[in-house]
Amino acid sequence: MTRLKIAIQKSGRLSQDSQELLDKAGLQFNRSKDKLFWYGRNLPVDMLLVRDDDIPRLLLDGVCDLGIVGENVATECCLERALPGTQLAPEIRLDFGHCRLCLALPEDQTWHSPQQLAGKRIATSYPGLTQQYLDQQGIQAAIVELSGAVEIAPSMGTAEAIVDLVSTGTTLRANHLRECETLLESQAGVYLGSTPLDEERNALRQRLLERIAAVQQVKESKYVMLHAPRRALKAIAELLPGAESPTVLPLEGQEDRVAVHAVCRETVFWEHLEKLKAAGATAVLVLPVEKMLS
Ligand code: ATP
Ligand code: ZN
Repeated sequence: MTRLKIAIQKSGRLSQDSQELLDKAGLQFNRSKDKLFWYGRNLPVDMLLVRDDDIPRLLLDGVCDLGIVGENVATECCLERALPGTQLAPEIRLDFGHCRLCLALPEDQTWHSPQQLAGKRIATSYPGLTQQYLDQQGIQAAIVELSGAVEIAPSMGTAEAIVDLVSTGTTLRANHLRECETLLESQAGVYLGSTPLDEERNALRQRLLERIAAVQQVKESKYVMLHAPRRALKAIAELLPGAESPTVLPLEGQEDRVAVHAVCRETVFWEHLEKLKAAGATAVLVLPVEKMLS
């Protein structure tokens, strides 16, 4: 059988989470420290370790069958290619690599509306997404394309505004810039390569996608066990976040109390436990879920 190739970022903000995800999905590789290629040991799936910016192209050119990359990079690549029908949509959103692409101005300027960008220079590493935003607003402005250190452009006098990635906003504040508009909310996702696969490889890719989706689901899921008065069962079932039909078990020697077990598919907060207790629950245990296939 020919093998599948999956591309992930070699080193950077997405690398560790991407590797952990594939590890949890049961993929094992013969690691080589510097090589860009890890050979799959237990499944015919190999890994390419590359710069994140190269991943969309590897997918679109059919070099890779799967890739993990930020929505920001995937969308930008499609816009820059500007080929009709060039599209990359995340198959599964991964809930890491969260950031947003923002328009920012120097702090001493007030933001009224996009119109004030007309005729100005905007520094960015995202010319495609910036141009799309300007077109949507019907504004003409000059885009100054930079590959890094975008945030210093206004103080250097090379641009009046910037469009850059932000996660906490610390870098912007340090450079006396203020966020004005969000152009894109982004997180990492699993993307598919453009080349159609034969039946066998397609089945393998589907299997991997199912495992990745299950790993995602399990991250939030908890197994909750508690004792409850029989009369409060309905109220307690409603208080369990994201649980479908809990299992109810008798308790030896107790007529009016039962044990309740449930898989909660949403985060279980302390507030949930406090409400359960107030509804009559005792001996509440919250356990992590290791694997789940449904
Ligand atoms: P490479 O050498 O692979 O090109 P890079 O410097 O472009 O690395 P990183 O800084 O590691 O990339 O960011 C990779 C991705 O992480 C970004 O494209 C984005 O999707 C996500 N990300 C999350 N938070 C941030 C942030 N605060 N700044 C930049 N990227 C972020
Ligand atoms: Zn990059």
